[in-house]
Amino acid sequence: MQNQVIPYGRQDITEDDIQVVIETLKSDYLTQGPKIKEFEDNFAKYIGCKYAVAVSNGTAALHLCALALGVKQGDKVITTPITFAASANCVRYCGGEVIFGEIDSETYLLDINSVKDLLKSSPKGTYKGIIPVDFAGRAVDLEQYKKLAEEYDLWIIEDACHAPGGYFIDSSKSKQLCGNGKYADLAIFSFHPVKHIASGEGGMITTNDEELYKKLLQLRTHGIIKENEGYKNSIEFAGGDDQYPMWYMEMQVLGYNYRITDFQAALGNSQLKRAGEGLERRREIASLYNNYFSGKSYVRSQSGVVEGHAYHLYLLEVEDRLGLYNYLRSKNIFAQIHYIPCHLMPYYRKFGWKEGDRPYAEDYYRHCISLPMYPTLTEQAQIYVMDCVNEYYEE
Ligand SMILES: *Cc1c(COP(=O)(O)O)cnc(C)c1O
Repeated sequence: MQNQVIPYGRQDITEDDIQVVIETLKSDYLTQGPKIKEFEDNFAKYIGCKYAVAVSNGTAALHLCALALGVKQGDKVITTPITFAASANCVRYCGGEVIFGEIDSETYLLDINSVKDLLKSSPKGTYKGIIPVDFAGRAVDLEQYKKLAEEYDLWIIEDACHAPGGYFIDSSKSKQLCGNGKYADLAIFSFHPVKHIASGEGGMITTNDEELYKKLLQLRTHGIIKENEGYKNSIEFAGGDDQYPMWYMEMQVLGYNYRITDFQAALGNSQLKRAGEGLERRREIASLYNNYFSGKSYVRSQSGVVEGHAYHLYLLEVEDRLGLYNYLRSKNIFAQIHYIPCHLMPYYRKFGWKEGDRPYAEDYYRHCISLPMYPTLTEQAQIYVMDCVNEYYEE
């Protein structure tokens, strides 16, 4: 019997991580200091995009994206029902309407055909944007979405929280890393401890669009700017003589305080150095699970080995999911369910969503379970997990 709980995901904090946080705590800046830009620059390099904006969490990242793209009352936006609620909620923060598509029962990602059906069934201009999610770490083929976006004049926010380092292969046979900004306008990441890179709380927005980048910086800090060229009030009003005084700043739009702190950024930056290694380890774990479970009669479907998959989660679809879940818990294995379909959350039911609206997503939910998946999961612990699953069904 396993004494320590094996969770479905967890952070890995090293001595180096601890040291950089301590150093930052002793420095002049706890927030608004140099660690933030350093983290942003390194993250942009890792993902292969031009700009990165670090924020307080992934949900704030989504909110800022929706604001920067101008989501407003009545705007319709499409996303997947199999995601964390935040992917959809950002639209609601801005008064927009969330339309959930259907999932592809093989990839578990938003089914592009369901998106096409939605777009075709309404006059052009009805929908403003799409938020595809690299669910479980599997990269969405954004090239296909970009084609739709061009045809229907939509923006794309890629929710890449599960997939730093993940990629898909586009039609020119090149690797497109999740969040690299080639096909999506904006992408977002989270640094919650169960994600690939942990900073406690934290998030990042990536883009190649300079205009959006500038908007995001402004919205992150109350809508304030501190550069001369954009000022709207006069020099005279500001209290200067021939130029704006040094203290002067302007709040021009309604922004927020969605900043990350320097010690969190320092931790994220230190974690980022090991992101490649962690990803390799996740792929090894996935491959072992995959070999073990392939052909087992109690497995309806499994994550599989997919090129470019970043394996935030390793998913199985099984019969008698509740029984397995409880059995694993009795063995100190805390598997998890990802996700309860968003459209059937009581909040979204208020907008008319009901059971049967998205049958593939709902069927997936009745069978899915996420097995432990994190870089420090030992092979011994993984074998214990696999044997416990097997034991439940075969003994
Ligand atoms: C974690 C997560 C978020 C939200 O990130 P937080 O940092 O927890 O706010 C959004 N979308 C997905 C898919 C996530 O997994």
